Amino acid sequence: MAYQSWEDIAKEQAIAARLLKNHIQLNRVNHAYIFEGDKGTKKGEIAHFFAKTLLCKNLDDNLNPCNECNNCQRINKDIHPNIITIKPDGKFIKKEQVQDLIEEYSKTALEDSPRINIIYQADKFNLSSANSLLKTMEEPGDDIYQILITENYNSLIPTIKSRAESIHFKELDRSLIRDELKKLNIKSSYANPVSQYTSNLDAAKIIATDEDMIEIIDLVIAIYNALLADKESAVITFLEKNKQVLSDNDKAKFFLELMIIFQKDILQFKLNNKDMCFINQQQTINKLASKIDIKLAEKTLKNMLELSIRLKYNINLKLAFNKLLMNLERGYKHATHSSRDSI
Ligand SMILES: [Zn+2]
Repeated sequence: MAYQSWEDIAKEQAIAARLLKNHIQLNRVNHAYIFEGDKGTKKGEIAHFFAKTLLCKNLDDNLNPCNECNNCQRINKDIHPNIITIKPDGKFIKKEQVQDLIEEYSKTALEDSPRINIIYQADKFNLSSANSLLKTMEEPGDDIYQILITENYNSLIPTIKSRAESIHFKELDRSLIRDELKKLNIKSSYANPVSQYTSNLDAAKIIATDEDMIEIIDLVIAIYNALLADKESAVITFLEKNKQVLSDNDKAKFFLELMIIFQKDILQFKLNNKDMCFINQQQTINKLASKIDIKLAEKTLKNMLELSIRLKYNINLKLAFNKLLMNLERGYKHATHSSRDSI
């Protein structure tokens, strides 16, 4: 949903909100900005809101757009001619795309209001398109603004970097993601682990409403519970229910990351930190924690983290996960407190 106010934005990107609002207040808006940060940090949405505040004819006392003037109404319908959005055409942003922009500039403005270009994936300029853009940045018209958006700040061409003010967009707070998921009626027992897994709100929403992913969360919980029961086996639990996990790499990664988050909960419990992710599994976590010493809990976690690095390569998932679970079983079911066996 589009932002309604700077206050809304400040909840998610406090620094960006403060900076941009200040620039408007002090009448010092730059002609070029770089919004940089990870996927899901709302750079595009905030760029559009900022553009709206630059175009609105009746900003309120808090510098929020009125949503009623002619400009606001057209922006809300996404039909304002003064906001131009550019995305790479194929692999790159092409020179012709920038030239089209420049041609637009050279025409007499149809409307007596600022023009704003929002350029997505600004790291995808090639040298010739970057040079064309740089020319416009060197002689910016009084009422032309560029907002360059990128997830790869380091890949931006240095001359572009030096001509724009960069604003870093930080990862969203996990608690914020959790709260947003709860608004979608996702139970805490799922919202918590998903918000630990990703700080990208859009990705979190997709995962938390995907039945396969929810099944994977249930599988992780079932596996750790099987480690406690004499008559159950984590390895067999996995073999019976692993269909989803082995079907693709994203799911395998999700499975392993959740196994890691659960193991972290166990270690945290041992270290007397009761702030857990799997809050509905406290009893299980408590009992598992009592079965191994801190050293073994740490070593287990370390091995899992190493496996998550190897997951990036083409490894045999079935073998790797079977081995992981067999070692977990050996550790939790058969280790004594003084055990030095590795998991
Ligand atoms: Zn307005």
